[in-house]
Amino acid sequence: MARERVIVRSHPDVLGHLPTLGHPEMPARVRAVLEGLQPHPEGWEIEPEAALPPDGDVIGVLRWLHDPALIERVRGAVAAGQRFVDAEDNPVSKGTWRAALSAAGLAVSTALDLVNGRLRRAFLALRPPGHHAGRNRAMGYCFFNNVALAAEVIARASQAPVLIVDFDVHHGNGTQALFWERPDVGYLSVHRYPFYPGSGAGDETGAGAGLGTTLNVPLAAGADDDTFAGALEAALDDLGRRLKPAAILVSAGFDAHETDPLGGMHVTDEGYRRMTRAIVQAADAWSQGRVLSVLEGGYDLEALASASRAHVEELARALDSTSPSSTG
Ligand SMILES: [Zn+2]
Repeated sequence: MARERVIVRSHPDVLGHLPTLGHPEMPARVRAVLEGLQPHPEGWEIEPEAALPPDGDVIGVLRWLHDPALIERVRGAVAAGQRFVDAEDNPVSKGTWRAALSAAGLAVSTALDLVNGRLRRAFLALRPPGHHAGRNRAMGYCFFNNVALAAEVIARASQAPVLIVDFDVHHGNGTQALFWERPDVGYLSVHRYPFYPGSGAGDETGAGAGLGTTLNVPLAAGADDDTFAGALEAALDDLGRRLKPAAILVSAGFDAHETDPLGGMHVTDEGYRRMTRAIVQAADAWSQGRVLSVLEGGYDLEALASASRAHVEELARALDSTSPSSTG
C-alpha cells in the first residue's frame, strides 16, 4: 500500500562532494532545502538518511544509461586526486564518487519504491545534480543523470511510458540526448534560451521512434511566473495527452527563481507552486498521481529553501485531497 504522504529523501553522503571554493553547487544547497522543509505538516515525511541500494546494484543501473568509461572516469578521478572530470566546472573532491553514487542510488531506490507501490510521491534532496550528464560525459556540475536513471527504472519495470518534466532554467541536454530516440520516455523542458548548455531549441523534438516525445519550450531572459508556468502548463497538456505516462518525473531546478545568481529569470515561489500544481494534475489524470521529483539546480540558498518548500507543499496538498484518510 502506497504511503499517502510525500516522501522526502536525502543522504549525508551527498554533502561529501566538495567543489572548489566559490563554486555555486555546494553542500549548503541540500542543507538549505532540508532546513526549508522544517517544520513540516503531516503531509510529508523526511528521511534524511534514506536506505541506499548496494553499490553493485546502482552501478548496474548506471550502466543502462552511462558508458562504463564515464563511471570509471569519475571513480578514477577521485581515487587519483584529479582536479575535475571531463570539464573544469566539474571539480572533484575525496567525497565526489560516494556522493554521485549515493545520489544515483536514491533515485534508483525511490523509483523502485514507486513501481512497487510503496509510495506515490517523492522529492529527492540530492546533489550533485544530473540533467546535463550524458551517456559518456560529465558536465555542468553533473556526473550521473539521476532523474534519467529513475525514469529508466520505472519505464523498464512498468513497461509503460514515463515523462520527465524539467523546469530548471537550463536545458537538460544530457536527459534529452539519453532518450532522444525513445518512444517510451518523454522529455519536456522549459528553459532560458539561448543559454548554457546551448541546446533546447523548439525544433529539437526527438528522432526515429522517439520523434515527438521531446518537447522544448525555449524562453527569453527575464521570464516571469505567467510566462514560465504558462509555457509549462501548455506543453504538459500537449505531451501528457499524447504520451499518457505511467509516472511523471521532475527535474526540479530552482534557478529560474528571481533571486538566483545564475538564471536571469523572474520566477517566484508562486510560480513553482503553480508549475507543481500542473504536474500533479497531469499525474492525477494519467499517472495514478505518481510523481518523483529530483533536485537539479538552484543557487540562491534562501530561494532554494522557499521554492522547494512550495514545491513539496503542492505535492502534498493534492495527496491530502485524494487520500481516504483526509479530514478536510
Ligand atoms: Zn540549472
